[in-house]
Amino acid sequence: MSDDLRNVIIIGSGPAGYTAGLYSARAMLDPLMFAGYMSGGQLMLTSDVENFPGYPQGIGGPEMMMQLREQAERFGLEVEDKNVERVDLKERPFKVWVEGQEFRAETLIICTGAEAIWLGAEGEEEQKGRGISTCATCDGAFFRDEEIIVIGGGDSAMEEATFLTRFASKVTIIHRRDVFKASKVMYDRAASHPKIEIKTFRSVKKWLSDEKGLTGALLEDPRDGSIEQIECSGAFIAIGHKPITSFLEDQIETDESGYIIHKHNTMTSVEGVFAAGDVVDTRYRQAITAAGMGCQASIDAERWLEDQE
Ligand code: NDP
Repeated sequence: MSDDLRNVIIIGSGPAGYTAGLYSARAMLDPLMFAGYMSGGQLMLTSDVENFPGYPQGIGGPEMMMQLREQAERFGLEVEDKNVERVDLKERPFKVWVEGQEFRAETLIICTGAEAIWLGAEGEEEQKGRGISTCATCDGAFFRDEEIIVIGGGDSAMEEATFLTRFASKVTIIHRRDVFKASKVMYDRAASHPKIEIKTFRSVKKWLSDEKGLTGALLEDPRDGSIEQIECSGAFIAIGHKPITSFLEDQIETDESGYIIHKHNTMTSVEGVFAAGDVVDTRYRQAITAAGMGCQASIDAERWLEDQE
């Protein structure tokens, strides 16, 4: 095999990517990973991970990702902190372009995960980074002793709201209905916190601002259209994520929301291309399930390569 032709290129570096890298490296497949400019995935934006087995006291998301990377690199995973711009999956070896340079691989494992969805309410574009954020871990400390709102009713909203109480004087969770997708334990932790108030049946209709930044929002009750104004200097949108697949330019079959579909075990609609983690997972979306799927994808790629010989 020539130097520039790899058995496996892994795209993406969350728990799925690093686990695929660990298994591929231990299988002597000489894997190369393009980890992205912001390597580590969504866990780099998470405070404490309390539900990954093996960490009885929990572990910080970034610390866990550093350990996963170190473990995979110990067995020979080569990691480049660069983004993949596009791929050509028409024939094998597949082609991957990174900063204009072409790489070739017999198999690909796509682990690019998902990114936060924005609300798209009036005035949002102008206030992004000036008070409206999708990452409490990144931006929470800017709002010391200020009033903040968090939009959403899932685990992310509960986690962000609870985390933000470290800084804010008050956190109000805004949810569009009175049923919460959040797990009971995370809902209860947020709902019982003295700094947190929960307002149900409210949607953000418009963001309000002055020359200094965000000042509040107009909230609409979806039941009767009535409007109320809330004041806040920070807002965190936590309404879910969408898969990162645009670099694939529709060469792989996805569902209507853009999530990659598995055709046979972890293989996608393109023979020799595998996918793992949040980029395929609309159901579990956990670090542990992503890691497990990364392991499966690596084993599937290894067996598929053996079958080709
Ligand atoms: P979810 O899909 O679970 O929840 C999204 C929330 O946002 C829902 O309450 C939804 O409302 C609301 N929403 C969606 N679109 C809009 C909109 N346009 N306007 C207003 N509200 C909207 O996403 P999460 O990111 O919270 O969680 C994703 C997964 O990650 C889950 O499996 C979760 O368990 C997991 N997770 C686990 C954590 C942990 O265990 N530490 C931490 C964070 C996430 P509605 O209910 O009406 O649809």
